Formats: sequence, structure tokens, C-alpha cells
Amino acid sequence: MWAPCYLAGRRVLKEACGVFGVWAPGEPVSHLTFDGIFALQHRGQESAGMAISDENSITVLKDTGLVASVFDERSLQGLTGTHAIGHTRYSTAGSAGWESAQPVYRSVGEAGFALAHNGNLTNTEALVERAGMLPGMVLTDSDVLAELIASTWKASEENGLHQALCDTLPFVEGAFSLTLIDRGHIYAVRDPHGFRPLCLGVLGDPEHPRGWAVASETPALDIIGATFVREIEPGEIVTINADGVRSEHYVPSGVAEEKLCIFEYVYFARPDSYLHGREVHGARQRMGQLLAQQSPVEADLVMGVPDSGVPAAEGFALASGIPFGHGLVKNRYIARTFIAPDQEARERAVKRKLNPLRENILGKRIVVVDDSIVRGTTTRALVKMLREAGAAEVHLRISSPPFQWPCFYGIDTPHRGELLAATKSIDEIVAFIGCDSLAFISIENLRDAIGEAGGFCDACLTGDYPTSVPLESPTSKQAVQDQDGPQLQRSLPGV
Ligand code: SF4
Repeated sequence: MWAPCYLAGRRVLKEACGVFGVWAPGEPVSHLTFDGIFALQHRGQESAGMAISDENSITVLKDTGLVASVFDERSLQGLTGTHAIGHTRYSTAGSAGWESAQPVYRSVGEAGFALAHNGNLTNTEALVERAGMLPGMVLTDSDVLAELIASTWKASEENGLHQALCDTLPFVEGAFSLTLIDRGHIYAVRDPHGFRPLCLGVLGDPEHPRGWAVASETPALDIIGATFVREIEPGEIVTINADGVRSEHYVPSGVAEEKLCIFEYVYFARPDSYLHGREVHGARQRMGQLLAQQSPVEADLVMGVPDSGVPAAEGFALASGIPFGHGLVKNRYIARTFIAPDQEARERAVKRKLNPLRENILGKRIVVVDDSIVRGTTTRALVKMLREAGAAEVHLRISSPPFQWPCFYGIDTPHRGELLAATKSIDEIVAFIGCDSLAFISIENLRDAIGEAGGFCDACLTGDYPTSVPLESPTSKQAVQDQDGPQLQRSLPGV
């Protein structure tokens, strides 16, 4: 499940899908959905799709590739309806091919529904058994979820999709922000911990709305002219139809406890997204400011690794008084993932994506601010590139604490043995990467930068998983240690 994978250039932490939904009779629904998922393209570039209904039938169009290559004006003109859902996919479970593209459709008697999923389920095996699926039928955890909902609905067809959701969701564990469509409704669902974001917006005057939209991030509402209303709550089902919006919770009160992925703030979400009422860009700047106060260094220039390292670099420069400047140019046209099996290939991958601004760097002591170090291999290639471009010193400042534990909630992370900070001390990491100094923001400063906005998952930084994770054992930390073998257990700090 945690297969090594190196995105062209540098990134090894990858998002896992964007979801969208819109109810807007009389509006160009397919175009609104296109714009919505286009705004969520950063969350997944492997495939894109939409399911649209005219209240008589549901049409699904999906394919591998970017949103703009899957849909064109002609295909959008042919997709007419009153309501739709959309999806952009990055695979953390299952293949990256067409067969894994979403939305996933299931027919139930004369009816049917389609589902779009952001997240990763942690009890898939139990759900496969519950749904009566054969192992060969399983492509992705989203397929399993769709199959389980369909089998529940089939058991009492007269009850409809809404009742099937209420009956199914209490058995589903892990991370899921969903949008679903049937012939008469849009549904938006968030798991009881709210690992992945999901928000509600209104089209037009809230007193007399022209429609409603749901999306992984607020910029998808902005782009279609919808006004943010609120975040979908953990454990909530929102139903949208001609009568308006209805809300209910499918878990008893007290069970739902928000654990939004803290990396949405650090890296995944767009900087113009609002989470918990705060703009992500500002939180990233504060991370840089606190990092400068926590781990100062004498230098001539502060630069960020594009794109998500740049706001934190601005904050670092502000707090330290060291001038901010650009030291790297990013090729914005690289979306596909390359497998880079050795260090030489990784260096080529970094060069494909990033090129140094030599005159800005030459002879300078530079502070390079990045959002995370996972395996360290791409950071190492980046430092080498900056030194070859003439940097006198390279000081790394990272706006997240050491990444020490794998993610089970929808982010593609490697096996624990491959996480650099899980196996090496700071001095060893400095020697491996080849920088002059290195500091990670503390977990306390990271939380301060975000503010008292809500509850967070920080399991990959602390090992405190909010749910049981796939390997059964006395504690979550122990489970992941067992996965990696006894030699690694000896080297784990604080365990
Ligand atoms: S483990 Fe880390 S990456 Fe995964 S949801 Fe929690 S904070 Fe996010």
C-alpha cells in the first residue's frame, strides 16, 4: 500500500482527491461542476469525472488525466441536468487507471447513485465481508463503500439512498468526505473525525437561493460564484434537493470529534482556502514567523520552495529581518508522477520541476523554507542543486515537525522505515541531505500558528492515531512499529 513513489521534482507527500457537488436547476450545472473540480485540481491529477442527473437518469463521464483534458466544451454541452457531483483523483489505494476513476456508479433496481470520495478507509476488509464482495471485485476502498451502500439499499429498496447511508455509515471507519448523487438529491457526508475538509455554499441570495454547492475547499465555491455558508460537521449528512438543505448526524452526539488533517494547513489545501474560518496563507506565514523565532540563523536571503514553502518563507523573512527573495523557478506544467528509483533519477526529477535563479543565489548564505521532509531524497537533490548554483551556505527550515509515522487517512506516505525522521537524528539528517543546518518547527509552534480553530489529526508527527489503524495491536504506535520490524523499534525516539 505504501509503495515508493516520487513526484516529478520533489514532492512525495500527495493529496488524495477533491470532491464537489452542486444543486442548481436552471443553471449550467456541468459547467459549474467543471469549474468546481478545476479549482480542486491540486488535490489529484490522475483522473477526473462527474455524475449529472436531470432527475430521470444519472450520466457519468470520467477518465484519466487532468480536468481540462477529460472535459471540453462539447462534452459539457452534452451533460445537462439539475444537479451533479465531481471528483479529481489521486490514488492512495487501488490503481491509477480508468477503472479507479470516480464518481463510482451503482444501480439499485430501477434507480442508482454515484459516489465521490476523498480519504482512505481503515476497515476495508471488514466492509468487503459485510458487502458480500469477493476479493477480486475490490478495486478501491471507494468501490467497497459504494458496493456496501448499494447492497444495503437493495435490501430494502423502498427506503432509498438516504436510509441506506444512515444504515451503512456507522460501520465505516477511517477518513471519508463524500458527495453522492441520486435522481432527486445531492448528499454531502463527513466521517466522525472530519479528517478531510468539506464545506457548504449557497448560490445567489441565501433567502432565495438559486442553488447550493458542496466542495472540499472554499475556492471551488468562489469560482462558481457561491457564498461560503459553513463547514460540513464531522459525522454529518447534508441532503440537498428541491426543498433546500437538511442536516442530520449519523453518529450519536459525543462520538464525533474533529481531527482535521493538520497537513491541510501545512501543505495540501490551496493558500486561498479557508479552514475553520482562517485563510491558509496566513497560517503558513505565521508558521514561518514562529520558525524564525524558534530557530534563527544568520543569512543573506530567505527563499521558499515553490509553492507551499513560499508563504512560510515570507513569514520567516518578516520575523528575522533577512530579505525575502526567489531562488527557484518552478515548471508549472508537470502533473504526472514519475517513478524515480535511484538518486540520479531523483536529481533529474528535481531539475525537471525546479531551476535555480543563479544571480539571486550566487555567493549568498540562504535560508530555504520548505513544508516537509519525508524521505529526504528530493530535499538532498535540491540542496545539491542550490550549491551547484553558487549558494555559499544552505540552511533548511521546515514548517512541519519531523514526519515520523505513516498516514492511514488518505495521504500517500511511505512505509515507516523509509521516513527519514523516523530513523535518523537531526545531525544524521543534516549529513544525509548535505545542508549546513536544519530545524523543524515544533508541534507547539505549528498549533500556535494555526490557532485554536478546532481539533486536528497530527498522527504522522506524533504517532497518536485518532482511530485504530489497520494492523491490530495494543497501541497505534506499537502497531506501526510491528509493521516495520524490531530493528526500527530500537531507533525510535520516545517510544
Ligand atoms: S496522519 Fe498526518 S497526513 Fe494523515 S491525516 Fe493525520 S495529520 Fe494528515
